[in-house]
Amino acid sequence: IYTGGTFGMMRNTVGSLVPFDFSNMVDHLPTIKNLSLNIDVIEFEKPIDSANINPEHWQLMAALIESNYQDFDGFVILHGTDTMAFSASALSFMLEGLSKPVILTGAQLPISEPRSDARENLITAIEIAAAKENGKPIVPEVAIFFDYELLRGNRSKKVESMQFDAFDSGNYPALAKAGVKIDFNRSAILSVNTEKSLSVRKKFDSSIALIKLYPGISNAYLHAVIRTEGLKALIIETYGSGNAPTDTYLLTILAEAVKKGIIVLNISQCQGGRVTQGKYETSKTLDEIGVIGGLDLTTEAAVTKLMFLLGNFPQEVVRTKVIENFAGELTI
Ligand code: ASP
Repeated sequence: IYTGGTFGMMRNTVGSLVPFDFSNMVDHLPTIKNLSLNIDVIEFEKPIDSANINPEHWQLMAALIESNYQDFDGFVILHGTDTMAFSASALSFMLEGLSKPVILTGAQLPISEPRSDARENLITAIEIAAAKENGKPIVPEVAIFFDYELLRGNRSKKVESMQFDAFDSGNYPALAKAGVKIDFNRSAILSVNTEKSLSVRKKFDSSIALIKLYPGISNAYLHAVIRTEGLKALIIETYGSGNAPTDTYLLTILAEAVKKGIIVLNISQCQGGRVTQGKYETSKTLDEIGVIGGLDLTTEAAVTKLMFLLGNFPQEVVRTKVIENFAGELTI
């Protein structure tokens, strides 16, 4: 499924990179024809830079997987790197009962460039999507393959914009490493019930906000965010293991939000580790006022999970479900 991204971009007349269609791309990848696999290509009508991705595109990707699910052993989604971790997280929540690989990949350099990483990323992603053992898919989950590593989609983050190793999953081991052969880390891969059928929920509700704390954050800013019309959930990206200043204004405004029924979820700015509310004095009050500790959820997983849950469940149910494990996105 080709959605766009640098992978298939070329320079326009003024030198900016813009997406072009997939048929031109296969000319740069003759090896694809040598893989003894049957591959079909579906393209987004208009390939996009992934900075333009929104929930409608997640719905489209999920719908394409749903309608083609029975006919294929696995799926590869070519996607821009900028928001790939968001799309991978969203898909992992939407595709309930998934028992086939959905592998997202892309490139840091367009396939038309001699030093591009596109070829290697795509070929290995296809091999992983097709990999089976005893007739069963080895990676029956949504994952990102990039720069020789396979990572769980909802644990991944884009961490690099210049080097080829664009993704990392600070809180979860790689699902596979591709060298001379592909080494699968079997104990890290989700074990799923292959008898279960796929059921796809496509609704999202974007009535959420995200505040990243920084020293000196202004009261006016906090106030404006919390008073956002129709706000249903607020994510606060705190320091370290979930710490926030004990400044009374912040705590007062968060307590006010909780009282109004807004779900306040505490996740960490750190790439590794987890939120443990109450470990330090600076997080104890958060716990007391009803802020939910977001464990080791990434920002990408927290944003998409809340939008997904709010779209499909009543607010009170979302409050408990947000820290339940859906697709390996958190460790309880
Ligand atoms: N801006 C591009 C995108 O996300 C970057 C990339 O693909 O690497 O679509």
